[in-house]
Amino acid sequence: MTAVVAGQYGKRPVLVTDHTLAALPHIREVLGLFDHAPLFSEVEPNPTVINVDALAVLLRDSAADVVVAIGGGSVLDCAKAAACLAVSEQNSIRAFHSGGAALGPNALPVVALPTTAGTGSEVTPFAVLDDRDKGVKGPLAGPALYPQHTLVDPALTYTLPLYVTACTGLDALSHAMEGYWSKNHQPICDLLAREAARLIFTHFETVCVEPENAAAREGLSYAALLAGMAFQLPKNAMVHACSYPLSTRFHMPHGAACAFTLEYAAHLNAPFMNGRLEDFALYCGFDSVEAMTRRIGVFKRLGGLPRTLAEANIPASAVPELIDGSFHPLMNNNPKPITREDLVAMYAALNGADGN
Ligand code: ZN
Repeated sequence: MTAVVAGQYGKRPVLVTDHTLAALPHIREVLGLFDHAPLFSEVEPNPTVINVDALAVLLRDSAADVVVAIGGGSVLDCAKAAACLAVSEQNSIRAFHSGGAALGPNALPVVALPTTAGTGSEVTPFAVLDDRDKGVKGPLAGPALYPQHTLVDPALTYTLPLYVTACTGLDALSHAMEGYWSKNHQPICDLLAREAARLIFTHFETVCVEPENAAAREGLSYAALLAGMAFQLPKNAMVHACSYPLSTRFHMPHGAACAFTLEYAAHLNAPFMNGRLEDFALYCGFDSVEAMTRRIGVFKRLGGLPRTLAEANIPASAVPELIDGSFHPLMNNNPKPITREDLVAMYAALNGADGN
């Protein structure tokens, strides 16, 4: 199936994955469908501009006409960005990420096979990249970043370790909630967001304790895709803005960094949403926002995600730096206008939160 789909777009595919996935039998089986196609497996977690530039060189040198990306959000984001860079006049994705150049409308076609149920990168026009030299982590955006074709096979997620399942699942939940409370929220995306969250609350615990439960894995993969569509127009808000310094400075996986502030953000935003978050909680089967956020806390404990600064090994002395790095433009989408004092109070709560 994958080779047939890729063949619709080109004859000279380049395969993209990461080292861990490239060693797994079921991924090797997919890669083996493409005889002698060049393989790029250097994508790091939180992909860097260096990864993107290196992949674009391979795409150009091999005259690739289709990119087959098999992996989590990092792999998909790297492949999507490199597919744009390879057909541009630029030699580094930095030109678009932080250099002010506008991303053009063209890209090599990307066939995306997500191996996690999380980022929704398979259906979004975004690629989150890390520029470690400049200390800049943030999304690149533009229609050229949409994959041309996405194949969602929940079976590719069965072997995910618990921690990765939990981080990516809570990233998807963050997309649903942030798209829903974004100041730019709109009715169709609201529907997608509510249903994505309902599915995540229904299936999250099952996939954690029964990783090969087909119905639950399918529910989560579908939820991640819906959540990807739920936030792509409204965009994310404070949770994602705050996640960037947590990932850049303390190397927290993206989903863990989003989940870190998700409950607090829900309580901060609820009074600014005219009852909409209470409706959201009811749709997801809870009788209050409080009950919904308690469940998120349970999910974090089940998945081994940090819930306090101490659990995340972040000293309280680093909080001013985290706050400085949190005022990303996404913060402006938040329904409650966020001040420095709000974040001081948030990190004080996360410092003193009950870690049990
Ligand atoms: Zn995210």
